[in-house]
Amino acid sequence: MCTVGGPMGDIKLKKLKTKRYRCLDCGNEFKGLGKRVICPSCQSDNVESLE
Ligand SMILES: [Zn+2]
Repeated sequence: MCTVGGPMGDIKLKKLKTKRYRCLDCGNEFKGLGKRVICPSCQSDNVESLE
């Protein structure tokens, strides 16, 4: 299965720690986790970790 559905694809979110990220496109700061983090504001994956 290679289906990439979106943010709902990850089920094991509960036990993982969230990290803080900043979107390089719109400057939004948010918490995210996993390998693929996207900005919740503009859906960009052009983000950097703040930690
Ligand atoms: Zn953004």
